[in-house]
Amino acid sequence: MRTLARRVSEAFLDAVWPPACPLCQKPLETAERLCASCANQLAPLRDRCDRCSYPVPCRSCANLPAPLTALIAAAEYTRARELVFAYKYGRNRSIGRFLAGALAEAVRQNPYAQRADVVAAVPLHRARERERAFNQSDLLATAVAAALGKPLASAALVRARATPRQATIQSRAERMANVRGAFVVKDPGPLRGKAVLLVDDVITTGATVCALSEAVLAAGALAVSAAAVAHPFASGPIETYDPEIWTV
Ligand SMILES: [Zn+2]
Ligand SMILES: [Zn+2]
Repeated sequence: MRTLARRVSEAFLDAVWPPACPLCQKPLETAERLCASCANQLAPLRDRCDRCSYPVPCRSCANLPAPLTALIAAAEYTRARELVFAYKYGRNRSIGRFLAGALAEAVRQNPYAQRADVVAAVPLHRARERERAFNQSDLLATAVAAALGKPLASAALVRARATPRQATIQSRAERMANVRGAFVVKDPGPLRGKAVLLVDDVITTGATVCALSEAVLAAGALAVSAAAVAHPFASGPIETYDPEIWTV
């Protein structure tokens, strides 16, 4: 009886409030989880280099920023960017759930991610975290750690300096200057001698993740890789991007 009652009430709710895509609110025609357009934005990358996510045959691994062993993406940067920004700046946590699912799937199948000993989120400065009410990379890192069955070491890292938002700065040189010395390893214990996988929502020029990687390596980590929902390096061909971006 309860099941019937629930079915009746679901049919009623569907009639007055038709099912909508949780990301863009467009009505859904079938029982799909996302509308076709949003599903397309988060389509998993196929036939990609495990190390840098560039389409195979890869001609780009040599351009990986020096501190990183691998740079893993879950989706096409140009397609997913809007969703990632809606999650990050619009505080849309339901989008976060889908992004976390996409990233968890990508790392589960990636040999470089599987080799990580610990996972850590790129930290936000406390003031920024308060302003946003959450660290958008924390949820992603939690999903990645669970997918890989590895411990989370996010608490070992601190963003000691509040830096202007990277999204407001265009050139990579300025971005590097903006984040230099911004990260401190508060507790080297969980990182020493370990392969660390850093998780960020979106990696644009790599300046933030490189600055953090350098701090993590200086604290005794063996190797650092990074994973993000999207980074432009995976979108290829590399010629369409400013080569300076990827030269550290
Ligand atoms: Zn949608
Ligand atoms: Zn590659």
